[in-house]
Amino acid sequence: MAEDCVFCKIGLGEIPGELLYSDDLAFVIRDINPKAPTHLLVIPSEHVTYLTSFNQDREALLGHMVLVAREMAQREGLAESGYRLVINQGSDSGQEVPHLHLHVLGGGRLSVMG
Ligand code: 5GP
Ligand code: ZN
Repeated sequence: MAEDCVFCKIGLGEIPGELLYSDDLAFVIRDINPKAPTHLLVIPSEHVTYLTSFNQDREALLGHMVLVAREMAQREGLAESGYRLVINQGSDSGQEVPHLHLHVLGGGRLSVMG
């Protein structure tokens, strides 16, 4: 938990939000400002800021996040049509929230990256 971190607060229920999924390691919410018809965020419960803060200790957490994303994509009906997983890292990526998260984007044809 980091004070003033919006994702830590959502994870702890301090900010009301639609928790679509949660387990010991991660939880899932809908993005408040969706960039695709379906836009989910897979967020580790632990406050980790950036991908660059990860070391091999957390390899399993990253793998878990990808599996949760895959499961949520299935539940949201995206498995057949396809979807995109994105992690933004740092300023050039436009990362807004310094608590690592995995975007799940789908539900329509996605624009080209970059
Ligand atoms: P980033 O640009 O850091 O990779 O993505 C942060 C995402 O979090 C953005 O897409 C933004 O819309 C979303 N977001 C920021 N604040 C909130 C919030 O309070 N609730 C939810 N559900 N999403 C948020
Ligand atoms: Zn946090």
